[in-house]
Amino acid sequence: MLDFKLTEHDRKPQSDADAVKADSVYDLIILGGGPAGLTAAIYAGRARVETLVLAGSLPGGQPANTDVVDNYPGFPEGIGGPELAQRFQNQAERFGAQIKMDSATGVDFSTQPFTIHTHGATYRARTVIVATGAVPRRLGVPGESKFFGRGVSTCATCDGFFYEGKTVVVVGGGDSAIIESLFLTRFARQVIVLHRRDELRATQINRERAFANPKIRFVWDTVVEEILGDQTVNGVRVRNVKTGETSVIKTDGVFVYVGMEPKTEIFADQLELDGQGYVVTDHRQRTNVSGVFAAGDVQDPLYRQVVVAASSGAIAAMEVEKLLGEYSP
Ligand code: NAP
Repeated sequence: MLDFKLTEHDRKPQSDADAVKADSVYDLIILGGGPAGLTAAIYAGRARVETLVLAGSLPGGQPANTDVVDNYPGFPEGIGGPELAQRFQNQAERFGAQIKMDSATGVDFSTQPFTIHTHGATYRARTVIVATGAVPRRLGVPGESKFFGRGVSTCATCDGFFYEGKTVVVVGGGDSAIIESLFLTRFARQVIVLHRRDELRATQINRERAFANPKIRFVWDTVVEEILGDQTVNGVRVRNVKTGETSVIKTDGVFVYVGMEPKTEIFADQLELDGQGYVVTDHRQRTNVSGVFAAGDVQDPLYRQVVVAASSGAIAAMEVEKLLGEYSP
């Protein structure tokens, strides 16, 4: 149960500098500036809930690093990921949400008001929506860390441009691997998709597009054992999981798309997490701590769609509004 009342003393500060110094308490702090966090900010702002969004280093979340979002309703021709992200942000700001490019480094949800630490500041809030999302999983093979940013990438939108006329390897068989492979064919001479099975996980429409693209070649039943190179990547050592045979495939770059991991490290001793590290929520986006909600990919191992994340953000914000209403004077 939340046992607090809103007082003038608690009102939020008016500037970032004040935010660091003032002994103030926000109605709501949203951790994360992706579709879930920004949709929650739109709903909360529109409900006149004083809202601060700690949006990380770049607001927009995963769509900001995605070439085109094809399946968000209302955009029949698709929409560029960065543009969609910017629209979310503009809309949240229109309704008064304060958006800061800062990231939580620690939280204390054990007492009210909740405390959130960043590198340069400490914030307090009556309610929190955790919408920190998920980050690309790494392969964990030798060479991956060494060459990350020098031929190894998890963002084709950011780095595809560097592979004009070159050969790239994409690891993975899900929608991300296939969508980004298609994107990379704009630049690369050849895109080699390495998948550990002989059937793609990606949805039918993406499979069909990839199979129809003459620049994409598939290597099935194959895993990467090592990423090779000198100053930059020049190959991958792979193993066929059926025959056990190993070989080297020459490539100028490696794009890793083998799924996502929730960003929940700082909540490990604060919130109930499932076996994979996702925040456990109920159908009203409530966590096990009253006043703390979670939305988007940080609590969704299944769907991971922009529209689903946005929807859960909206639900979380409406629950916040309801909860604050119950305890306001
Ligand atoms: P995903 O669906 O979990 O696919 C991960 C892929 O990586 C799988 O093919 C998996 O192989 C493979 N993989 C996992 N660990 C591996 C390892 N250690 N070594 C080699 N391969 C490995 O992840 P995702 O593609 O990032 O997609 C995540 C979710 O977002 C999905 O629900 C997807 O539908 C959705 N998504 C949707 C869109 C869209 O526009 N609709 C775009 C992107 C993503 P197995 O198949 O053998 O497990």
